[in-house]
Amino acid sequence: MPTNKDGVMIILSSPSGAGKTTLVGLLSQRPNFEISISHTTREPRKNEIQNKDYYFVSEKEFKRLIGNEEFLEYAKVFNNLYGTTRTPVIERLNKGKNVLFDIDWQGADQIKNKKLDYRLITFFILPPSKQILLERLSHRHMGDKTMVEQRMNQFSYDVLHWINYDYVVINDTLNNCFLKILNLIDAELNNGSKDYDKDFIRKHVEKLTS
Ligand code: ADP
Ligand code: 5GP
Repeated sequence: MPTNKDGVMIILSSPSGAGKTTLVGLLSQRPNFEISISHTTREPRKNEIQNKDYYFVSEKEFKRLIGNEEFLEYAKVFNNLYGTTRTPVIERLNKGKNVLFDIDWQGADQIKNKKLDYRLITFFILPPSKQILLERLSHRHMGDKTMVEQRMNQFSYDVLHWINYDYVVINDTLNNCFLKILNLIDAELNNGSKDYDKDFIRKHVEKLTS
């Protein structure tokens, strides 16, 4: 049974570009929240820092970690490998830290299925519209059309996983979305009332996929 002294695992997933990395960054500024830094075989982006944004490693090193069973979860995303090592996560949870995960639906499924002895809250982030997603991706990838197209094409598949998450939140105005997530975490941890309308989300997904 999870105890109140242990930290909580908080997963944020989304179609690429919806804003989960930005939101995880904001949440990590709250006291007692720390980000789980993933390993990846993908190349760093210009603004990314080794050992802060990711542990950027070779495929050989990643496969060594798989062989050593060091991953809590790992998955292939856009032709690169991504994974979360177990030890730093468990150590932080045991110290009472809340651990934030910016991982895809495959990783979220794996962690859920492990049924670890820690509380877990899962969030799926959606963009307000496909047009806004396109604008955010174009901005982030500085006009790299192939990158943007690849992510837009993947959108209609990724979005279908919303149904497996505890909460789905629309990232319209960043601060509103951030506050909504904080309120839901607070309500979960303190058995408070939740401002959450699943039917509204279902309709929003229908609009995004129609
Ligand atoms: P993800 O991690 O889901 O792929 P990011 O957090 O990298 O997405 O966000 C994609 C881009 O959109 C980034 O350039 C980020 O600064 C921007 N962004 C995120 N949230 C918002 C928002 N609410 N309004 C405007 N731009 C946003
Ligand atoms: P990006 O390359 O844009 O940083 O991330 C691509 C995707 O990989 C995102 O959906 C991100 O959440 C996911 N991702 C990042 N780290 C991990 C991880 O450790 N495990 C899994 N399963 N997905 C990850």
